Amino acid sequence: MTTTPAPALLLRNARFLDVESGRYTEGELLAADGRIAETGTRLTAPADTEVRDLRGGFVLPGLVDAHVHVTAITAHLASLATTSPLYVGAYAAQIMGGMLDRGFTTVRDMAGADYGLAAAQAEGAIRGPRLAFGGRALSQTGGHGDNRGPGAHLRDDHPCCGEHSRIADGVDAVRAAARDELRKGSHHVKVMASGGVASPTDRIDSTQYSMDELRAVVEEATAFNRYVAAHAYHARAVNRALEAGIRSVEHGNLIDDDSVRQLVERQAFLVPTLVTYWALQKEGREFGLPENSWRKVDEVLHAGLGALERAERGGVRIAYGTDLLGGMHRHQNEEFRIRAEVQRPLALIRSATSIAARLLGQEGEIGTLAPGARADLVVLDADPLSDVTVLADPDRHMPLVVQDGRVVTDRSR
Ligand code: ZN
Ligand code: ZN
Repeated sequence: MTTTPAPALLLRNARFLDVESGRYTEGELLAADGRIAETGTRLTAPADTEVRDLRGGFVLPGLVDAHVHVTAITAHLASLATTSPLYVGAYAAQIMGGMLDRGFTTVRDMAGADYGLAAAQAEGAIRGPRLAFGGRALSQTGGHGDNRGPGAHLRDDHPCCGEHSRIADGVDAVRAAARDELRKGSHHVKVMASGGVASPTDRIDSTQYSMDELRAVVEEATAFNRYVAAHAYHARAVNRALEAGIRSVEHGNLIDDDSVRQLVERQAFLVPTLVTYWALQKEGREFGLPENSWRKVDEVLHAGLGALERAERGGVRIAYGTDLLGGMHRHQNEEFRIRAEVQRPLALIRSATSIAARLLGQEGEIGTLAPGARADLVVLDADPLSDVTVLADPDRHMPLVVQDGRVVTDRSR
């Protein structure tokens, strides 16, 4: 299946944000063949061009969420191991459509999504953000990706079901697992390097995988010209993951000064996901999060803002992430409101545009309004540089979302 090319799109009477300088340019933007063709004033456009007067609106590059799970159709992730992948795919399409409506034109899926879902989006079969996916996350036995309760022995690792992780123990096994995920087109390899909230038997403060295993995964990803992202909460786990060469730290709620120093020196990224704890505390049990997982939330919620502040002060490259599950996906933009306590508006906008683009290896392609980039953009009716929380309320403040030069969400009429 292929899609028909979009007609050219001319956006007039708007303010376009350069996220690097933090300055707006008033004028017009012409998109053609899915790319930004030209910006300026009094642009000439082909005859069949769709023209939109944005009435002084504020235009940003399409948003990028660097930590999502589009196949997390429930907060009870263990149940996905025995759920039909077709059923999961149908609801994943719904979740992706919601993300697009909230202004996210690209997302990085941090376990669950695969080449099939990415292709379905790319070919226009489903509405949603472009997917940079990692397939299944690698977990050790008893790690964050091991969904068995202590009384269970057998694990059904049917390769076609919608489970988010696979168990691999030992250097040879993790190499084979990483190669297998890369074989299926993964943009990155995800490893579980500490305990987590939604896993039944591990402790948040555990470290997971030996250094030899972590280094082996990094070696395989590097050989493939890809990188490794690690789920890790506390400094002990984060610091050894960075030492092993991991490029992207997911969550990092309990990092220390050494973590900040290593993140900067190694040019790694931190992807906090504060809104998920906020949402889990509010609604987790209602959406299927087991009781013992719910109790772990409190441990990490309050530390998260402190970690963000420490990283921001230290000059770490911080990308926007949310990590929401099940019915809580609708809170995706609330992360802007939570982080606004610590990050300045422009820094926060960069985290969801240019910095996330760099993390995804798509600098110049997304996260910018420069000519040549993909024509992904969001239109706001108020200035996010004076009040960044307008991004937290897309229903009220985001009249238009454009992806690949097409208007994909229109709340303006
Ligand atoms: Zn995680
Ligand atoms: Zn996650």
